[in-house]
Amino acid sequence: MAVTRTFSIIKPDATRRNLTGGVTKMLEEAGLRVVASKRIHLTKDQAEGFYGVHRERPFFGDLVKFMTSGPVVVQVLEGEDAVKRNRDIMGATNPANADEGTIRKVYAESIEANSVHGSDSDENAAIEIAFFFKPDEVVG
Ligand code: ADP
Ligand code: MG
Repeated sequence: MAVTRTFSIIKPDATRRNLTGGVTKMLEEAGLRVVASKRIHLTKDQAEGFYGVHRERPFFGDLVKFMTSGPVVVQVLEGEDAVKRNRDIMGATNPANADEGTIRKVYAESIEANSVHGSDSDENAAIEIAFFFKPDEVVG
């Protein structure tokens, strides 16, 4: 299995509850290494751009409001099969459907305030990493 990278966001519901460390510990214990990390407050333009694929969905406006409601921690994660490894430890979008031991099962408040984002493909991971990080900010 190849070592690859994925993009993660610790969302405002998690930073608000001081769970940056708790979430990161679960990522690391799942075999992922944090090779870039910064705490930022997304602008409306950034949130709309980042979630552009969901623009037509009924929850888009609320999602942008939520993602700009407080600080987030954007991260690049590295590990074997990183996209799938991260999606597995994240758990299902809706915490009610998330497996035991996943980040969303342990920490998420709702289908919207679900504590973490993770890229869904290698292609999107590359796009999302480039959205927030310059190449020299990622240190493997
Ligand atoms: P995931 O984050 O698991 O990849 P999606 O890409 O489908 O899920 O959705 C992006 C984000 O939009 C979710 O993580 C969640 O914050 C929000 N979201 C998704 N579906 C809903 C919904 N039905 N109602 C409210 N918010 C939603
Ligand atoms: Mg998604």
